[in-house]
Amino acid sequence: MKLLIQELKERVPLRTVFAHYGHTDLPERNGKHFPCPFPENHARGDQRPSCNFDTGKDGFPRYHCFSCGERGDQFDFVERREGVDTAEATKIVAGIGGIIEGGTFTAPRKARPPVKTIPVHEKPEPIVFPEDLRVGTEAELKQLAELRRLDVHAVYLAACCGILRFGTHRGFPCWIVMDESRIVAEARRMDGKPFPHSGKKPNTLKNGKKSWPVGIKIRHSRPELFRKIVVVEGSADLIAAYHFNYTTGKMDSLPVAMLGKECREIHPEALKLFRGRDVRITPDADADGGGMEAARRWAKQIEEAGALSVTAFDFSGLTRIDGMPVKDLNDCTVIHPDDEHKLEGILA
Ligand SMILES: [Zn+2]
Repeated sequence: MKLLIQELKERVPLRTVFAHYGHTDLPERNGKHFPCPFPENHARGDQRPSCNFDTGKDGFPRYHCFSCGERGDQFDFVERREGVDTAEATKIVAGIGGIIEGGTFTAPRKARPPVKTIPVHEKPEPIVFPEDLRVGTEAELKQLAELRRLDVHAVYLAACCGILRFGTHRGFPCWIVMDESRIVAEARRMDGKPFPHSGKKPNTLKNGKKSWPVGIKIRHSRPELFRKIVVVEGSADLIAAYHFNYTTGKMDSLPVAMLGKECREIHPEALKLFRGRDVRITPDADADGGGMEAARRWAKQIEEAGALSVTAFDFSGLTRIDGMPVKDLNDCTVIHPDDEHKLEGILA
């Protein structure tokens, strides 16, 4: 006799499978959060429990971790936990329930203790934010819109999403890009000038990790609604991407920025957030081709992480209204009218 999947689900509930793997302290009702059963996905542990149960289309419970994106039923869980295919996972689930299949008894596997949370990195030092970090006054938001030639509503939108803040950094009034992860933050001066200590315009806040694509964890109750991710380079282009999203009305695309093409490996926690999404990379059209090379590297990692599709948009050949070549997304706010239609491809 071959058991139907549905029957198997009924006889070996998801909670039984979880308990078999040592996850016993589970909430009674659906919707209540508990620590993710894949602690290895959480570099610093799942400190604020991110997983919960809900009911699938077939009426049986499923698990879903909002932080690392793992989701599924008992078979998905065993597949992931044991690294086996669906057929093997089905046998293991049956085994856990002590079910006789095809006349042979599949012995329940010995429960193995859950994988301990092994910090991948030493617990990182928190970012040193300005003491006067703030959402920004109306005047500040307007000033930034003017400085970067952006629609002021788009700047408001970025502030609402938690990716734009203001504050004093190294003695200068600055605008700061960051996100809910608080893993990286970058400041630029409100007057658009470089910082004297480095001679550079952007300055990463102390302890920030540039491997984190800033903007990928926004303040939003349902981040999964963003089916597309646009990857830009640098904090200025991040705000510019909000500008184009706003002016073109494309509200299903989430802008994120890599802060510098030197980043070789995208942060593993961030890579998981690309899963199941369409990703467009818009590398800087710099003379040495370093932007394209970095984009290829990132595209490979994002693809391997399980993105639905990864495409690139190339700025080369586009011209600004003043005749200069377009180097990045921010330049596109002053694009020559003849090239405007090509722009639509960026956020398509
Ligand atoms: Zn998780």
